[in-house]
Amino acid sequence: MQGKIVKGIAGFYYVHVVESGVYECKAKGIFRKDGVKPLVGDNVEIEVLDEDTKTGNIREILTRKNELIRPAVANIDQALVVFAVTKPKPHFNLLDRFLVMMEQKKIPVILCFNKSDIAKEDDISKMEEVYRSCGYPVFFTSAKEGWNIGEVKKILYGKTTVLAGPSGVGKSSLINLLQSEVTMETGSISRKIDRGKHTTRHSELLVLEEEEDITDYGSYIVDTPGFSSLYVNDFEKEQLKYYFPEFEPYEGTCRFSGCDHVHEPDCAVKQAVEEGKIHKIRYDDYVAMYRELQEKRRY
Ligand code: GDP
Ligand code: ZN
Repeated sequence: MQGKIVKGIAGFYYVHVVESGVYECKAKGIFRKDGVKPLVGDNVEIEVLDEDTKTGNIREILTRKNELIRPAVANIDQALVVFAVTKPKPHFNLLDRFLVMMEQKKIPVILCFNKSDIAKEDDISKMEEVYRSCGYPVFFTSAKEGWNIGEVKKILYGKTTVLAGPSGVGKSSLINLLQSEVTMETGSISRKIDRGKHTTRHSELLVLEEEEDITDYGSYIVDTPGFSSLYVNDFEKEQLKYYFPEFEPYEGTCRFSGCDHVHEPDCAVKQAVEEGKIHKIRYDDYVAMYRELQEKRRY
């Protein structure tokens, strides 16, 4: 039987199998056999030991598509980056850092601006303009009023999505709206685990509601604290431009080949910023991050 590890604690792995629920599994001998330790998000082959107590053994870890270190999760399909349109006002620099990080890891991003019920029309259209022009899908939701929740649900179907964003923007409220009866099942298991002495929070996949006939794959969300502030640090400043998708049409058209679009003359990207084809907010964040990477290298 095939399933996905949704939680791992103290040598036990909780494997969700679409249609039959969650199994508590051990992974004896896996490390010796495959040389890898099971990770939340791993797709695994299990052998059921007892259907009544829902216990089993992990027999094999299927090939990983990718792996995030913090949170430690495998097989991420996409990221839902959540910010509020207002209250708190979006911290564009932080948002752009999330986007750079996901670009670097080649994880597709969907942007969700929540609290659209209390936002001004102007703020909404500004954000829409800035980020849609970079090529990101953008949704405006209201967890309070239930606006656009169905649309967001649809893009999560059959995928494993990492949820990222600062606190206070409505992530928990959104998750509550997206969760389901299947989750209740995993919920009871969570309660069982929580009675133990483990207080550190591990990454965990939440199982989302499945509507009939939509998919044979489960839909999962990763919600992890410690994913709310980020430093750009594990690449060279010359790489940064490749993580701003809207710069791409201008690559190779600056006067200097290898132009970093910062202080070089006759730069096509700077020209595009002046002409309003690239947003100044984005460009300024690019320069700020570039300088940070530059500073770091000096030490
Ligand atoms: P989290 O820290 O990102 O998980 O945010 P929460 O879900 O805890 O929400 C933070 C606060 O914003 C709470 O007081 C929510 O009631 C409120 N909130 C969440 N979503 C919305 C929304 O769509 N509209 C409005 N007006 N308030 C919201
Ligand atoms: Zn340039």
